[in-house]
Amino acid sequence: MPIGERLEEFRKQQWDDLETFERRRSARLSELLIHAVANVPFYRERVSGLSSEAIRSDPLGSLARFPILEKQDVRDDPEGLMCETGRRLVRQHTSGSTGVPLSFYRDTESLGASLATTQLALEWAGAERGGRRMRLWPLSAGATRPSRLQRLVDRIHDRVVLNTYLMTDETIREYLRILNARPIAVLEGHPSAFVEIAFCAERHGLELPRPRALVSGGANLYDHMRERISKAYGGPVFNHYGSFEVGLVGSDCDRRRGMHVFGETTVLEVVDADGKPVEPGEVGELVATHLWQTSMPFIRYRMGDRGAVSAERCDCGRPHQLLERVVGRSGQSFTRKDGTLVIPDVFANIVAKDFETPDIRKFQVVQEAHDHVVVRFVPEPGTEGIPSDLRDKIAARVSEVMYAPCSVDFVVEESIEPAPGGKYFFAVSKVTVGTPDW
Ligand SMILES: [Zn+2]
Repeated sequence: MPIGERLEEFRKQQWDDLETFERRRSARLSELLIHAVANVPFYRERVSGLSSEAIRSDPLGSLARFPILEKQDVRDDPEGLMCETGRRLVRQHTSGSTGVPLSFYRDTESLGASLATTQLALEWAGAERGGRRMRLWPLSAGATRPSRLQRLVDRIHDRVVLNTYLMTDETIREYLRILNARPIAVLEGHPSAFVEIAFCAERHGLELPRPRALVSGGANLYDHMRERISKAYGGPVFNHYGSFEVGLVGSDCDRRRGMHVFGETTVLEVVDADGKPVEPGEVGELVATHLWQTSMPFIRYRMGDRGAVSAERCDCGRPHQLLERVVGRSGQSFTRKDGTLVIPDVFANIVAKDFETPDIRKFQVVQEAHDHVVVRFVPEPGTEGIPSDLRDKIAARVSEVMYAPCSVDFVVEESIEPAPGGKYFFAVSKVTVGTPDW
């Protein structure tokens, strides 16, 4: 179905009553589970004794009998996760800011559904009222322009992207000139990009743009950051939560009482260590099922974040479940000698995405000093993880983004543990002072 029609459908369905909304979601979930058990080897091997009738009579109960899908499962056996009845697939590769690089496939149907929810979320932020849309987003290093798929996505969302991969004071000045040239309706961006630009404007006494609304995505938005970004740019901040693998999962509406979980495309569960659901309000692991992804189904996919859903619905009247908060993985910005910051995702991209580093399971980049960076990584068994020619390229690129020669050490680890408190940092700076997340 063309994206425009799908969007139109979602626009209507967002005002359905809870019962209708959930009945539709359950029907779609049943179809997906029946399909997965019948046509996807990974699920056929792991889920037994579930008849189509049993799934139809209790889709959510049946879902609970599916295993949690780990990134490692996708890495280990991508073929086994593909449906045997072939579809048109789009290859994706991500560092996902998770410290675990991943290649996988999505089909055009699921990409379309995700694009439609993203567009709906932008409309909640005011995009439907027209006006200029801009996006501050890091492209990969060396990429002078977005990929073809990305250009298509940007055209669908009718936005112009400014690459924040490498921001110097000079580029920020140039971006501010572009941003301030005409009024902006919606300014999307990574929270650290908003912060970095605000820092620079403050340092040089420059004007910040005053968009009607800001949309923050790609990393955790903490309450204090939301307040400060909102104050600096003079507009409300709408938080988005999702991942490259499953698309947009949730978004604030204009009430900002919690992120609406897009039941149109996704079933989000909060589970404990055994994969059992926890009570609303209780923090657990977030696992997501994409309802439209049939060619390589992501069912109960572990997002790598923790969070809690609310028992209540939003008073805007939409039927969605609310995601109260996300306690996610995180990265710290690195500080250059001149005091400017480099956002953490840059390092995730350098290590895991730019060169499609194939043989690492997990990594963490640590800034030990202005000119000293350590890349810790867990290699795939039986490999050296990052071969020496790649190490040279990675080191060269680190120096490039830090604007100074950096010594880069590579350390093989057996595992990389989360920080005290359970939070996993994929980029850690021992140099950045204060709260690097602003
Ligand atoms: Zn709402």
